[in-house]
Amino acid sequence: MNSMFRAAVMPGPRQPIEVRELPAPELEPGAALLHTLYSEVCGTDVHLHHGRLDVPFPLIPGHVSVGTVAALRRGGDQPRDVEGEPIREGDVVTFLDVHETCNHCYHCLVAQQPTRCAKRRVYGITYGAHDGLLVGWSEAIWMKPGVKMVRIPRALDPATFIGGGCGLVTALHAIDLAQVRLGESVAVLGVGPVGQSVIALAALSGAGEVIGVGAPNDRLAFAHRMGATQTVGLDVKPADRIERVRAHTRGRGADVVIEASGSPDAVSQALDMVRDGGRVVVCGHYTDNGPVEIHPHWQINRKHVELRGCWGSQYHHFHRAVQLAAHFGARVPWREMVSGRYGLEGAGEALAAVESQAAIKALVVPNEG
Ligand SMILES: [Zn+2]
Ligand SMILES: [Zn+2]
Repeated sequence: MNSMFRAAVMPGPRQPIEVRELPAPELEPGAALLHTLYSEVCGTDVHLHHGRLDVPFPLIPGHVSVGTVAALRRGGDQPRDVEGEPIREGDVVTFLDVHETCNHCYHCLVAQQPTRCAKRRVYGITYGAHDGLLVGWSEAIWMKPGVKMVRIPRALDPATFIGGGCGLVTALHAIDLAQVRLGESVAVLGVGPVGQSVIALAALSGAGEVIGVGAPNDRLAFAHRMGATQTVGLDVKPADRIERVRAHTRGRGADVVIEASGSPDAVSQALDMVRDGGRVVVCGHYTDNGPVEIHPHWQINRKHVELRGCWGSQYHHFHRAVQLAAHFGARVPWREMVSGRYGLEGAGEALAAVESQAAIKALVVPNEG
């Protein structure tokens, strides 16, 4: 095993990304080391770079990744999949970026909302570079004991899974919360990686009309390939966007509206676009993008609207996202959502491409070029 591995480090907010060498971890019993195949640039990484999240710098980004198991340290609890099958060297795996959820606190045990557990740690977000290779933008990734690895099925190209990546997992959580029923109409605000996967999963859930609202035009065109039956651009005035959604839903508004744009205005628009008694899920606000005025009487109470927030993901979302990518990867073009692949030296460029929306999805491929 190498004694040092290269990684793309974010020294501080708005500082250029630089490649540094970090020591190989001393694997504790039950730990593993992955040879990184792909890590992704998520919108969250842009927020990290803007200093919008309370995280330790310098840090190394990359929270959703795929790798090959290169080493396993025997002696502890051997990592296993949910079928009880041991994870072996040579397996291609991804892993739930969240770990150390305590399973002792009120959120874990009583509310059964482990995504709100205060003890949880997240690879590539809550760790600093001094914590070691608990990150994806690096040649190797340290799997601490207890990190939940998911084997990539043989029939699934890892590039298809990572094409969906973090956005696919979030989209699955949002679709679960939305409880889409067969034939229902779904409007999706935002056509970035989360919105695109929400559109695909709404269509796979048997939705009737699936209306994508967002920009730019190439993303709207891609939304049709993901399963949108209609799209509305942001060049249409906000009041007219609401009218368009109503026009596509017999004047009633959509049964379900999922906000995946991160724009505060979109939350208010979602409440206007949903039908009376419909459901709105907000999953685009991972950072604080500011307030918006809501009229509780007209937009929520009188409409009898169900409004749900969506934060983080649990193991079951992650696990099912992998299986969905395997089952539907030939039908849904997740793989083609990736518009750029970058080595570690190009990680800053990859981040800039996602920030400027030049790329829907950019990958960091640490062991290539
Ligand atoms: Zn807890
Ligand atoms: Zn992410």
